[in-house]
Amino acid sequence: MSRNVLILPGDGIGPEIVGQAERVLDQVNADFGLGIEKNHALVGGSAIDQYGVPLPEDTLALAKSCDALLLGAVGGPKWDALDMAIRPEKGLLGLRSNLNLFGNLRPAILYPQLAEASSLKPELVAGLDLLIVRELTGGIYFGQPRGIRTKDSGEREGFNTYVYSESEVRRIGRQAFEAAQKRGGKLCSVDKANVLEATVLWREVMNELAAEYPDVELSHMYVDNAAMQLVRAPKQFDVIVTGNMFGDILSDCAAMLTGSIGMLPSASLDENGKGMYEPIHGSAPDIAGQGVANPLATILSVAMMLRYSLAAEEAAQAIEKAVGDVLDQGMRTADIYSEGNRKVSTAQMGDAVLAALTNQ
Ligand code: NAD
Repeated sequence: MSRNVLILPGDGIGPEIVGQAERVLDQVNADFGLGIEKNHALVGGSAIDQYGVPLPEDTLALAKSCDALLLGAVGGPKWDALDMAIRPEKGLLGLRSNLNLFGNLRPAILYPQLAEASSLKPELVAGLDLLIVRELTGGIYFGQPRGIRTKDSGEREGFNTYVYSESEVRRIGRQAFEAAQKRGGKLCSVDKANVLEATVLWREVMNELAAEYPDVELSHMYVDNAAMQLVRAPKQFDVIVTGNMFGDILSDCAAMLTGSIGMLPSASLDENGKGMYEPIHGSAPDIAGQGVANPLATILSVAMMLRYSLAAEEAAQAIEKAVGDVLDQGMRTADIYSEGNRKVSTAQMGDAVLAALTNQ
């Protein structure tokens, strides 16, 4: 199979963390004989500086022709005063819409070694490993009609439309069932079917799909209860699938259960398994250029890329094991440092992961 990867370092700490992730990618490429080919391109602020636009045509053309994209992060104060239409974030949104990346996979993993970083009691979260599959291009964030209008009475009202077509639910459902097959085989669909018709249909389609995936155990939960359960007993979940707005909120909540955004990867996938992989954090301008950023979220994004887009599960697992090993060794970048461990730089963390891969 072709394994063509487009690397987009982006802005701020992006180039530093992607540099380390690329070393890891190169090593597993050699170790596992994956035949990965790489291209590099600019997006976000760095593209604005060079070409005047956040998503240059060359970048988009490479993005369309590759099998997977690895992105650092975009944005920073340097570009904050620009017109909304050419801000760095537009580069990201342009990639998502042009590549039709409708499925957002956000794992929330808490390595037992970092349990103290969570705001919840360690015993509730140690070993947490859940995946939220969020629909990214539909639902109330995009539904028409929308707007603010003035009623006959002269009072203003704001309105949005919560709409999902059957095919939109089915395609995100398939991604979630398939993700559950690759993990613990449990899928919880989150909706508000007691109030919202759009999610009554959502639930019906999920039930229909369940017949095609007998190896996955499907359950349903209302979103208010899901929010409660996430902070009460998060380890009960394996995979959660939900719409755009509920997923937006629940995935941030789940990320914070782990207490360290420098550790969490994410994926945005299309219908054929092509995806863009990136850490959930931003470009961290406050620490950019200092060599102290945590590269592990980006390194774990490489693992997700190998698993979901490049059919290289063994290499994905090797990277995840290497990350666990360096945490066992007490290696910590500043954001996850605690007494008794060894504080390391971005590059030293990369070195440690490479060494752990070699020693497996
Ligand atoms: P941020 O995630 O960049 O930073 C929040 C805090 O977390 C900062 O203190 C930062 O130093 C720290 N942090 C983030 N990643 C880290 C890492 N890998 N290692 C150590 N510490 C880390 O969020 P922000 O400050 O709100 O945004 C900064 C810029 O990033 C803005 O321009 C924003 O628009 C952009 N942003 C981009 C993306 C993306 O590219 N997907 C996502 C979010 C924010």
